[in-house]
Amino acid sequence: MGKIEVICVGTELLFDRINRNVNFISNSLAKIGLSISRSITVPDEKEEIKESLEESFSRADIIFLTGGLGPTFDDITREAVSEFLGRKLVFSEKIWEEIREKFIRRGIEPPEINKRQSYIIEGAKILKNEVGTAPGMIVEEKGKIIILLPGPPSELIPMMEKDVTEYLKKKIKTGKIEIYRFCFIGVPESVVEEKSKEIISSYGIEFSIIPHSLIIEMIARLYKPEDVEKIWKLEKEFEKIFGKDFIGVNPPPLPQLVGILLKERRLKLALAESCTGGLVGKMITDIPGSSEYFQGCFVTYSNILKKRILRVPRTVLKKYGAVSEECAILMAKGARKYGKADIGLSITGIAGPTGGSEEKPVGLVWMALAFPKGKVFTKKNLFTGTREQIREKAAITSLDFLRRKLTEENG
Ligand code: ATP
Repeated sequence: MGKIEVICVGTELLFDRINRNVNFISNSLAKIGLSISRSITVPDEKEEIKESLEESFSRADIIFLTGGLGPTFDDITREAVSEFLGRKLVFSEKIWEEIREKFIRRGIEPPEINKRQSYIIEGAKILKNEVGTAPGMIVEEKGKIIILLPGPPSELIPMMEKDVTEYLKKKIKTGKIEIYRFCFIGVPESVVEEKSKEIISSYGIEFSIIPHSLIIEMIARLYKPEDVEKIWKLEKEFEKIFGKDFIGVNPPPLPQLVGILLKERRLKLALAESCTGGLVGKMITDIPGSSEYFQGCFVTYSNILKKRILRVPRTVLKKYGAVSEECAILMAKGARKYGKADIGLSITGIAGPTGGSEEKPVGLVWMALAFPKGKVFTKKNLFTGTREQIREKAAITSLDFLRRKLTEENG
C-alpha cells in the first residue's frame, strides 16, 4: 500500500484548537499496519482545500480530509472535493430522512440548512454517522482513495475504527493482516523496547509501539495467519522477561481484567477514594455486570469523612496526615469492613496543583490493599503531570496494584 496523507480542514485549527484527528487516524491505521506520511492543516477556504488536495493526490494513494462537512456556510469540504474531481453533488433522500429523524427524536424541526449534509459526491460510498448528522464518504478515483470524515473527534473516531478500517483492510493488497496487542504497564516505553528488541527480531515479526499514559501497547502485524504460533511463543517469552509488567496479548481493559480476576476468585471489592474522587469506582462500574464483584465506593475526600465513615482515628490523621501509609492502610481496612467486602482498596494523595510540601510533594499518592486474614499491602507513588493526569495515573495504578496482588501466589 502506498502513501497516506491527511488534510485537516478548519480555520480554528490554525488558531487555538489542538488538532487531535491526525493522532486518532494514525492510531487506527497503526492497528492495520498502515501509517501517515504527511499531514497538513488548511483553513475553511475552498481554493486552499482544492490546492492541498491536488498536491496530495499527486503524491499519495489514500487521502483523508477531516472537517468541513457540517451544514453551515463555512463547511465547504464536500464542494471542494466535488469540484476537484469534477463529480456532481447528488441529493440523497435517504440521508435527508435519517437526518430529519435524528432531529425529530430530539423534538426539533430539522432546519432547512441541514439539507446541505444530504448532498453526496457522485459515486461515493457513504459512512454512517452514529453520533452526529454529517455522513462520511469514500470516493475512489484513478486507483486512489479519498476519505471524507467529519471534524468532531467524537464523530470521526467511531467511523474510523469501524467502517474505514474494515474498508481499508479489504483494499490492502498484502492480504489480511492480523493485529495482536501486547500490553505492558509499570515500565517505560524505552525499557519495553530495549528488553524486547532482540527477541522480536529473532521472530521476524513487525511491531510498532503505542504508549497510552501508563499502558504501553506493542502492536504486532501478522501478514501470514499461520504465523500465529509465533505470537503465543512470544507471549510466553514476554511473561518470563517482564513478569507482571506484561499484562498479556489482547487483554481486556484493566478494570474489566480486574473484574474477571475477582470473579474467578469469588472475591468482593470495596473502595475508599480520596484524591481520585470516585474515578476508580467509575472505571469499575463502567463494566456491565460489575455488581457481581463490586460492593461500592466510599469517596472520603475530607478528614471528617475518613474519621466518621472509615473510622480512621483522629490521632493517626494528626500524627501522619491524610496522605500517609498509615492512613491508606486504615482507609483500606475501613472500606473492607464497612463495605462488607473481601478486599478493600484505598487511594489517598495530593493531586495538586496546590497543597504540596517538600516532605509531601504534589503527585505523592499512597494506596493500600486490605486482603482477607489481615494481609495488607501498600504502595507509594510519585506521579507527574497536571491534576487530571495525576488522578488518572493514580486510578489506573491502583487497579494495576490490585491486579498484581490478585495474581500473586497466596495473594
Ligand atoms: P459539524 O457538523 O460539527 O460542523 P464538521 O465536519 O463540519 O462538523 P468542523 O465544522 O470542521 O467539522 O469542526 C467542528 C468541530 O469539530 C470544531 O469546532 C472542533 O471543535 C472539532 N474539530 C474539527 N477538526 C478537528 C481536529 N482536527 N481536531 C480536533 N477537533 C476538531
